[in-house]
Amino acid sequence: MRRARRQRVWWCVVAAIFWLACWAGAPRPARAAEAQPLLGPGSHGEAVTILQQELAQMGDDPGPADGWFGPATLRAVLRFQASHGLVADGWVGPRTWAALAQAAGGGIPDDGTSGFAGEDTGDPNQDPPAKRVILTFDDGPSPWTARLVDTLREANVPAVFFWNTYHIQFANDAVMQRLRGHDDILIGDHTVDHADLIHLSRDAQSHEILDAKRTLERVTGQPVLYFRPPYGDFNATTRKIAQDAGMQMVMWDVDTLDWKYGRDEAPILRIIQREVRPGAIILMHDHLSTIDELPDIIRTLRNLGYGFTNLPQSPSDGGAASPRRAEPRVR
Ligand SMILES: [Zn+2]
Repeated sequence: MRRARRQRVWWCVVAAIFWLACWAGAPRPARAAEAQPLLGPGSHGEAVTILQQELAQMGDDPGPADGWFGPATLRAVLRFQASHGLVADGWVGPRTWAALAQAAGGGIPDDGTSGFAGEDTGDPNQDPPAKRVILTFDDGPSPWTARLVDTLREANVPAVFFWNTYHIQFANDAVMQRLRGHDDILIGDHTVDHADLIHLSRDAQSHEILDAKRTLERVTGQPVLYFRPPYGDFNATTRKIAQDAGMQMVMWDVDTLDWKYGRDEAPILRIIQREVRPGAIILMHDHLSTIDELPDIIRTLRNLGYGFTNLPQSPSDGGAASPRRAEPRVR
């Protein structure tokens, strides 16, 4: 009896040691290796959550793992890049993913899945029809803003970019050279930190809105005439601050949910087809997936008989930018 029990205990110990040895020797899953998309400030989604979790596991503070690449995540990425001999540009591309995977104890991810895809341009419409829409791109500048400008220009489509200034360094020479001397792309204010303004005091709202405006005017050399509150959240204080600063608030009519669908283009096109109407302001983001899909989005709109226009270049030109309906928070 006693011997049988001792034997059972012995086999349990052997099994436990064997299991531990297997576990320790098994290749550890490299979560960073699974997440290959290029990420930058303003990116949303599962890959950002993975990035935040990896950075937190390394003892940094990238903010909550909420899938939103905000200021805290950018600061943590910059620290990680600087301490791992990478170019500290806040852009999470193949090299940064590889360093993350290595630092997390995993393998080095496969390379080459995050290059820019080939371009496919729409037909420039020389004689735009009376039905027109306005394309808007939020949360830039980003590492791919220059590509967004090129894609729009090749399709002969104007747009408004609503920028956050906490990552204004992405408005680099390549971007600014493209924008200077052209009036087809307007830059609007989207606050410094992509703050949810309704939770802030008057002073904090002023800082978010007016510091961003000053920075944008310094960088672009142009007056900033338009303001879009992050998440579409605003109150009377927000409206007053924007108004006193000479900016009109611009909301949107069609929310493409491009941040949510990413590379799944079909639902984005369906939303546009369902909700577009003459004069509609269409909300998109300065994200790589959206830029890749943009030629198809433009073609879809042209096939529906729409042309493209822009907000007035000066407030006296008209009131196309009256506040539209506020959307639920987008995270
Ligand atoms: Zn935004």
